[in-house]
Amino acid sequence: MSKIAKKFEKICEKIKGSANNRPIELIAVTKFFTEEVVSEAISLGILNFGENRVQECENKFKNLLKTNTDIKLHLIGPLQTNKAEKALGLFDAIHSLDREKLAIHLKKLIIPSSRTKSFFVQVNIGMEKQKTGVVPSQTKEFVNWCANDLNLNIVGLMCIPPIHQNSKNFFLEMKKLSEICKLKKLSMGMSTDYVEAINCGATHIRLGTALFGERSKK
Ligand SMILES: *Cc1c(COP(=O)(O)O)cnc(C)c1O
Repeated sequence: MSKIAKKFEKICEKIKGSANNRPIELIAVTKFFTEEVVSEAISLGILNFGENRVQECENKFKNLLKTNTDIKLHLIGPLQTNKAEKALGLFDAIHSLDREKLAIHLKKLIIPSSRTKSFFVQVNIGMEKQKTGVVPSQTKEFVNWCANDLNLNIVGLMCIPPIHQNSKNFFLEMKKLSEICKLKKLSMGMSTDYVEAINCGATHIRLGTALFGERSKK
């Protein structure tokens, strides 16, 4: 059994152990990993992939998408407005809807044949200066505006909690926010804290290092 296969098996056990039969979507984060690594993940039955750059994703998945039509791609990194059109043609879900200007661009550019069908609003749950995202107190208003005024299909919330802090309280706050916003999906939890995230109600976890090992870069 390969290294990745072993890690995947362990992760699946942990997910099962904490999810109480709730379905959890595992998004394999393949940024900085090669097409070959993605192919191996596909051979293990992984179908959801996360990338944080539009161009890197397009290059890596162009051929894979032709032969693996059931793959789903998730954009998990910040999206510049000049890449919005390309992103809508490539990603099934965008997890980083984090500001008004981007929402307006997406609204202008989305068409029925766009690949993107759903959006997660990114919340700056730790109110960190260096991170993008809607602040918690404005999340409900932003979600309602995107959904009702712009007619974007907002399905959930996403967050990246502050590093070097216990994620639990941030995850619990996200769970509360999702209920306030009446949204069912929660994209939270990475390699170091995904079990905690599931315990707090995550529906989508995003795992890179835990599956594929250390990346050379962030
Ligand atoms: C890189 C990245 C991940 C995966 O991080 P790991 O710690 O390697 O699991 C998850 N979410 C986002 C937004 C990322 O940029």
